[in-house]
Amino acid sequence: MKITNVRAMQPIADDSPPDWRTSLGQILVAIDTDAGLTGYGVGGGGAAGIHVIQTVLRDLLLGKQPEAVEDLWQQMYSATLAFGRKGLAIMAISGVDLALWDLRGKVAEQPIAELLGGKVGEAIPTYITVWDEVSPEQAAAHRAFKLHVESADDVAALVNRTREAVGPDREVMIDAWMRWDIETTLNVAAQLDGLDVGWIEEPLPADDFDGYAELVERCPIPIAGGEHEFTAAGFRDIVERKLHQVLQPDVCWVGGLTELLKIYKMAATAGLRVCPHRGAELWSLHAIAAVDPHPLAESGRPWMTWVGGQPPIVNGEIRLTDAPGFGVQIDEANLPGCS
Ligand SMILES: [Mg+2]
Repeated sequence: MKITNVRAMQPIADDSPPDWRTSLGQILVAIDTDAGLTGYGVGGGGAAGIHVIQTVLRDLLLGKQPEAVEDLWQQMYSATLAFGRKGLAIMAISGVDLALWDLRGKVAEQPIAELLGGKVGEAIPTYITVWDEVSPEQAAAHRAFKLHVESADDVAALVNRTREAVGPDREVMIDAWMRWDIETTLNVAAQLDGLDVGWIEEPLPADDFDGYAELVERCPIPIAGGEHEFTAAGFRDIVERKLHQVLQPDVCWVGGLTELLKIYKMAATAGLRVCPHRGAELWSLHAIAAVDPHPLAESGRPWMTWVGGQPPIVNGEIRLTDAPGFGVQIDEANLPGCS
Protein backbone atom coordinates (compact mmCIF):
# COMPACT_ATOMS: atom_id res chain seq x y z
CA MET A 1 0.00 0.00 0.00
CA LYS A 2 1.28 3.44 -0.94
CA ILE A 3 0.27 7.00 -0.06
CA THR A 4 -1.22 8.71 -3.11
CA ASN A 5 -2.27 12.04 -1.62
CA VAL A 6 -2.06 14.08 1.59
CA ARG A 7 -4.76 16.70 1.92
CA ALA A 8 -5.33 19.29 4.63
CA MET A 9 -8.20 21.69 5.20
CA GLN A 10 -9.63 23.81 8.00
CA PRO A 11 -13.32 23.30 8.74
CA ILE A 12 -14.72 26.12 10.86
CA ALA A 13 -17.90 25.41 12.75
CA ASP A 14 -20.31 28.26 13.48
CA ASP A 15 -19.61 28.36 17.22
CA SER A 16 -15.83 28.09 16.98
CA PRO A 17 -14.39 30.66 19.42
CA PRO A 18 -13.21 33.95 17.87
CA ASP A 19 -9.56 33.66 18.85
CA TRP A 20 -6.53 31.62 17.76
CA ARG A 21 -8.68 28.50 17.91
CA THR A 22 -10.40 29.80 14.79
CA SER A 23 -7.54 31.60 13.04
CA LEU A 24 -4.90 28.94 13.79
CA GLY A 25 -7.29 26.24 14.92
CA GLN A 26 -7.97 22.61 14.20
CA ILE A 27 -7.25 21.25 10.74
CA LEU A 28 -8.40 18.03 9.12
CA VAL A 29 -5.76 15.85 7.47
CA ALA A 30 -6.78 13.18 4.95
CA ILE A 31 -4.28 10.63 3.65
CA ASP A 32 -5.36 8.69 0.56
CA THR A 33 -3.84 5.37 -0.52
CA ASP A 34 -3.75 3.22 -3.63
CA ALA A 35 -5.74 0.62 -1.68
CA GLY A 36 -8.75 2.96 -1.69
CA LEU A 37 -8.52 3.61 2.05
CA THR A 38 -8.37 7.15 3.48
CA GLY A 39 -7.08 7.88 6.95
CA TYR A 40 -8.24 10.96 8.84
CA GLY A 41 -6.54 12.93 11.58
CA VAL A 42 -7.00 16.28 13.29
CA GLY A 43 -4.07 18.59 13.88
CA GLY A 44 -3.65 22.28 14.55
CA GLY A 45 -2.16 25.43 13.11
CA GLY A 46 -4.92 26.62 10.78
CA ALA A 47 -3.67 28.00 7.44
CA ALA A 48 -0.06 27.90 8.70
CA GLY A 49 -0.37 24.20 9.58
CA ILE A 50 -1.93 23.49 6.19
CA HIS A 51 0.98 25.32 4.54
CA VAL A 52 3.52 23.10 6.37
CA ILE A 53 1.66 19.99 5.19
CA GLN A 54 1.28 21.15 1.59
CA THR A 55 4.85 22.43 1.17
CA VAL A 56 6.91 19.97 3.27
CA LEU A 57 5.08 16.93 4.65
CA ARG A 58 3.07 16.05 1.54
CA ASP A 59 6.16 15.69 -0.68
CA LEU A 60 7.85 13.64 2.01
CA LEU A 61 4.94 11.19 2.26
CA LEU A 62 3.84 10.70 -1.36
CA GLY A 63 4.66 7.18 -2.55
CA LYS A 64 5.67 5.97 0.94
CA GLN A 65 4.13 3.02 2.74
CA PRO A 66 1.79 4.36 5.46
CA GLU A 67 2.35 1.35 7.74
CA ALA A 68 5.71 2.68 8.95
CA VAL A 69 4.09 5.33 11.16
CA GLU A 70 6.89 5.81 13.70
CA ASP A 71 9.57 5.97 10.98
CA LEU A 72 7.53 8.52 9.01
CA TRP A 73 7.12 10.56 12.21
CA GLN A 74 10.91 10.79 12.54
CA GLN A 75 11.23 11.82 8.91
CA MET A 76 8.59 14.55 9.36
CA TYR A 77 10.26 15.77 12.54
CA SER A 78 13.67 15.94 10.81
CA ALA A 79 12.21 17.72 7.76
CA THR A 80 10.72 20.45 9.98
CA LEU A 81 13.53 20.62 12.54
CA ALA A 82 14.90 23.99 11.45
CA PHE A 83 11.59 25.78 11.96
CA GLY A 84 9.55 23.25 13.93
CA ARG A 85 10.33 21.33 17.15
CA LYS A 86 7.42 22.95 19.03
CA GLY A 87 4.25 24.80 18.14
CA LEU A 88 2.61 24.96 14.71
CA ALA A 89 4.82 22.49 12.84
CA ILE A 90 4.27 19.81 15.47
CA MET A 91 0.53 20.58 15.48
CA ALA A 92 0.56 19.92 11.72
CA ILE A 93 2.57 16.70 12.15
CA SER A 94 0.04 15.61 14.80
CA GLY A 95 -2.78 15.59 12.25
CA VAL A 96 -0.69 13.59 9.79
CA ASP A 97 0.39 11.10 12.46
CA LEU A 98 -3.23 10.55 13.55
CA ALA A 99 -4.30 10.02 9.92
CA LEU A 100 -1.55 7.39 9.57
CA TRP A 101 -2.72 5.69 12.76
CA ASP A 102 -6.31 5.78 11.46
CA LEU A 103 -5.09 3.98 8.32
CA ARG A 104 -3.23 1.45 10.48
CA GLY A 105 -6.49 0.63 12.26
CA LYS A 106 -8.52 0.51 9.05
CA VAL A 107 -6.01 -1.87 7.41
CA ALA A 108 -6.19 -4.14 10.47
CA GLU A 109 -9.98 -3.68 10.62
CA GLN A 110 -9.62 -2.98 14.32
CA PRO A 111 -10.22 -0.02 16.62
CA ILE A 112 -6.97 1.69 17.64
CA ALA A 113 -7.68 0.79 21.28
CA GLU A 114 -7.52 -2.91 20.35
CA LEU A 115 -4.33 -2.42 18.33
CA LEU A 116 -2.85 -0.98 21.53
CA GLY A 117 -3.91 -4.03 23.53
CA GLY A 118 -7.05 -2.53 25.08
CA LYS A 119 -10.78 -3.07 24.77
CA VAL A 120 -13.68 -1.06 23.42
CA GLY A 121 -17.13 -0.80 24.93
CA GLU A 122 -16.08 -0.33 28.55
CA ALA A 123 -17.20 2.74 30.48
CA ILE A 124 -14.54 5.46 30.70
CA PRO A 125 -15.23 8.17 33.29
CA THR A 126 -15.24 11.74 32.01
CA TYR A 127 -15.14 15.27 33.34
CA ILE A 128 -16.72 18.34 31.79
CA THR A 129 -14.86 21.61 31.36
CA VAL A 130 -17.03 24.68 31.92
CA TRP A 131 -16.15 28.28 31.15
CA ASP A 132 -18.61 29.89 33.59
CA GLU A 133 -20.88 28.39 36.24
CA VAL A 134 -21.86 24.72 36.31
CA SER A 135 -25.49 24.67 35.10
CA PRO A 136 -28.14 22.49 36.75
CA GLU A 137 -28.20 20.36 33.58
CA GLN A 138 -24.43 19.87 33.73
CA ALA A 139 -24.56 19.13 37.45
CA ALA A 140 -27.14 16.41 36.78
CA ALA A 141 -25.35 14.89 33.77
CA HIS A 142 -21.71 14.78 34.89
CA ARG A 143 -19.65 13.34 37.72
CA ALA A 144 -16.58 15.58 37.55
CA PHE A 145 -16.12 19.24 36.68
CA LYS A 146 -13.30 21.58 35.71
CA LEU A 147 -13.77 25.30 36.05
CA HIS A 148 -11.92 27.58 33.65
CA VAL A 149 -11.08 30.48 35.94
CA GLU A 150 -8.16 32.53 34.49
CA SER A 151 -8.71 35.46 36.91
CA ALA A 152 -7.56 34.63 40.44
CA ASP A 153 -10.31 36.82 41.93
CA ASP A 154 -13.24 35.11 43.56
CA VAL A 155 -12.06 31.59 42.71
CA ALA A 156 -12.99 30.33 46.17
CA ALA A 157 -16.50 31.77 45.84
CA LEU A 158 -16.91 30.07 42.45
CA VAL A 159 -15.67 26.73 43.80
CA ASN A 160 -17.97 27.09 46.81
CA ARG A 161 -20.97 27.67 44.54
CA THR A 162 -19.88 24.67 42.44
CA ARG A 163 -19.59 22.47 45.53
CA GLU A 164 -23.12 23.53 46.52
CA ALA A 165 -24.36 22.62 43.03
CA VAL A 166 -22.62 19.25 42.65
CA GLY A 167 -22.27 18.08 46.25
CA PRO A 168 -19.24 16.90 48.22
CA ASP A 169 -18.51 13.62 46.43
CA ARG A 170 -17.79 14.65 42.87
CA GLU A 171 -14.46 15.85 41.54
CA VAL A 172 -13.88 19.57 40.99
CA MET A 173 -10.75 20.97 39.34
CA ILE A 174 -9.73 24.46 38.22
CA ASP A 175 -7.78 25.71 35.18
CA ALA A 176 -5.89 29.05 35.23
CA TRP A 177 -4.66 28.84 31.60
CA MET A 178 -1.14 30.17 32.35
CA ARG A 179 -2.41 33.46 33.87
CA TRP A 180 -1.01 33.33 37.43
CA ASP A 181 2.34 33.42 39.24
CA ILE A 182 3.62 31.37 42.19
CA GLU A 183 2.32 33.61 44.99
CA THR A 184 -1.08 34.05 43.33
CA THR A 185 -1.41 30.28 42.98
CA LEU A 186 -0.44 29.65 46.61
CA ASN A 187 -2.92 32.32 47.78
CA VAL A 188 -5.71 30.73 45.78
CA ALA A 189 -4.75 27.26 47.03
CA ALA A 190 -4.96 28.53 50.63
CA GLN A 191 -8.44 29.92 49.98
CA LEU A 192 -9.50 26.57 48.53
CA ASP A 193 -8.48 24.67 51.65
CA GLY A 194 -11.22 22.21 52.59
CA LEU A 195 -13.01 22.43 49.22
CA ASP A 196 -11.37 19.24 47.90
CA VAL A 197 -10.09 20.62 44.59
CA GLY A 198 -8.53 17.81 42.51
CA TRP A 199 -5.93 19.88 40.71
CA ILE A 200 -4.90 23.38 39.69
CA GLU A 201 -4.19 23.35 35.95
CA GLU A 202 -1.56 25.48 34.20
CA PRO A 203 -1.23 28.17 36.86
CA LEU A 204 2.11 29.37 35.37
CA PRO A 205 3.31 29.94 31.79
CA ALA A 206 4.23 26.63 30.15
CA ASP A 207 7.94 27.52 29.89
CA ASP A 208 8.37 28.46 33.56
CA PHE A 209 9.95 25.14 34.56
CA ASP A 210 11.76 26.59 37.59
CA GLY A 211 8.51 28.18 38.74
CA TYR A 212 6.72 24.85 38.49
CA ALA A 213 9.57 23.12 40.35
CA GLU A 214 9.03 25.49 43.29
CA LEU A 215 5.24 25.46 43.06
CA VAL A 216 4.89 21.69 42.99
CA GLU A 217 6.86 21.54 46.26
CA ARG A 218 4.87 24.27 48.02
CA CYS A 219 1.31 23.89 46.70
CA PRO A 220 -0.98 21.61 48.75
CA ILE A 221 -3.17 20.99 45.68
CA PRO A 222 -1.77 18.84 42.81
CA ILE A 223 -0.55 20.73 39.76
CA ALA A 224 -1.68 19.72 36.26
CA GLY A 225 -0.34 20.94 32.93
CA GLY A 226 1.22 20.17 29.58
CA GLU A 227 -1.49 20.95 27.05
CA HIS A 228 0.88 23.57 25.60
CA GLU A 229 3.97 21.34 25.55
CA PHE A 230 5.09 19.55 22.40
CA THR A 231 6.57 16.09 21.66
CA ALA A 232 7.74 13.42 24.08
CA ALA A 233 11.16 15.10 24.09
CA GLY A 234 9.46 18.29 25.34
CA PHE A 235 7.80 16.33 28.16
CA ARG A 236 11.04 14.66 29.26
CA ASP A 237 12.14 17.49 31.56
CA ILE A 238 8.63 17.88 32.97
CA VAL A 239 8.57 14.18 33.80
CA GLU A 240 12.14 13.88 35.11
CA ARG A 241 11.79 16.99 37.31
CA LYS A 242 8.19 15.98 38.23
CA LEU A 243 6.99 19.51 37.47
CA HIS A 244 3.33 18.44 37.34
CA GLN A 245 1.51 15.62 39.13
CA VAL A 246 -0.93 15.34 36.20
CA LEU A 247 0.30 15.51 32.58
CA GLN A 248 -2.14 16.76 29.95
CA PRO A 249 -0.74 16.30 26.44
CA ASP A 250 -3.15 17.14 23.61
CA VAL A 251 -2.80 14.38 21.02
CA CYS A 252 -3.80 16.75 18.19
CA TRP A 253 -0.98 19.17 19.11
CA VAL A 254 1.75 17.17 20.88
CA GLY A 255 2.83 15.16 17.84
CA GLY A 256 -0.02 12.68 17.51
CA LEU A 257 -0.58 9.25 19.01
CA THR A 258 3.04 8.27 18.37
CA GLU A 259 4.16 10.88 20.92
CA LEU A 260 1.25 10.44 23.32
CA LEU A 261 2.14 6.76 23.76
CA LYS A 262 5.76 7.66 24.59
CA ILE A 263 4.53 10.19 27.16
CA TYR A 264 2.30 7.56 28.76
CA LYS A 265 5.34 5.26 29.07
CA MET A 266 7.55 7.94 30.60
CA ALA A 267 4.81 8.95 33.02
CA ALA A 268 4.24 5.37 34.15
CA THR A 269 7.93 4.95 34.89
CA ALA A 270 7.96 8.19 36.89
CA GLY A 271 4.72 7.42 38.73
CA LEU A 272 2.89 10.41 37.22
CA ARG A 273 -0.68 10.50 35.98
CA VAL A 274 -1.63 11.32 32.37
CA CYS A 275 -4.99 12.94 31.70
CA PRO A 276 -5.01 14.00 28.05
CA HIS A 277 -6.37 17.40 27.06
CA ARG A 278 -9.79 16.92 25.35
CA GLY A 279 -9.42 13.22 26.12
CA ALA A 280 -13.03 12.32 25.29
CA GLU A 281 -12.45 13.24 21.64
CA LEU A 282 -11.78 10.05 19.70
CA TRP A 283 -8.15 10.93 18.91
CA SER A 284 -7.12 10.47 22.58
CA LEU A 285 -9.88 8.22 23.80
CA HIS A 286 -8.42 5.04 22.28
CA ALA A 287 -5.14 5.56 24.15
CA ILE A 288 -7.04 6.27 27.36
CA ALA A 289 -9.01 3.04 26.91
CA ALA A 290 -5.90 0.98 26.17
CA VAL A 291 -2.99 2.24 28.27
CA ASP A 292 -4.30 4.58 31.00
CA PRO A 293 -4.31 3.06 34.52
CA HIS A 294 -6.50 5.91 35.90
CA PRO A 295 -8.73 6.85 32.95
CA LEU A 296 -10.49 10.20 33.05
CA ALA A 297 -11.46 11.79 29.75
CA GLU A 298 -12.03 15.53 29.42
CA SER A 299 -15.17 16.53 27.52
CA GLY A 300 -14.52 17.43 23.89
CA ARG A 301 -14.82 20.88 22.42
CA PRO A 302 -18.43 21.60 21.42
CA TRP A 303 -17.38 23.27 18.16
CA MET A 304 -15.71 20.08 16.79
CA THR A 305 -19.06 19.19 15.25
CA TRP A 306 -17.57 18.16 11.90
CA VAL A 307 -15.87 15.10 13.42
CA GLY A 308 -18.58 12.44 13.08
CA GLY A 309 -18.67 9.16 14.94
CA GLN A 310 -17.98 10.79 18.31
CA PRO A 311 -19.65 8.73 21.07
CA PRO A 312 -21.79 10.72 23.52
CA ILE A 313 -21.01 11.25 27.20
CA VAL A 314 -23.83 9.61 29.16
CA ASN A 315 -24.06 9.98 32.96
CA GLY A 316 -20.43 11.05 33.11
CA GLU A 317 -19.14 8.10 31.09
CA ILE A 318 -18.13 7.45 27.50
CA ARG A 319 -17.67 4.19 25.58
CA LEU A 320 -15.76 3.43 22.39
CA THR A 321 -17.46 1.49 19.62
CA ASP A 322 -15.84 -1.27 17.57
CA ALA A 323 -15.48 0.94 14.46
CA PRO A 324 -12.02 0.48 12.88
CA GLY A 325 -9.27 3.07 13.23
CA PHE A 326 -10.34 5.97 15.42
CA GLY A 327 -13.95 5.39 14.38
CA VAL A 328 -14.37 8.92 13.05
CA GLN A 329 -16.67 9.63 10.14
CA ILE A 330 -15.87 12.62 7.97
CA ASP A 331 -18.38 13.99 5.48
CA GLU A 332 -15.89 15.76 3.22
CA ALA A 333 -18.61 17.20 0.96
CA ASN A 334 -20.20 19.06 3.87
CA LEU A 335 -17.36 20.37 6.02
CA PRO A 336 -18.32 23.77 7.47
CA GLY A 337 -16.23 26.63 6.11
CA CYS A 338 -14.67 24.47 3.36
CA SER A 339 -15.82 24.87 -0.24
MG1 LIG B 1 -6.45 23.68 30.19
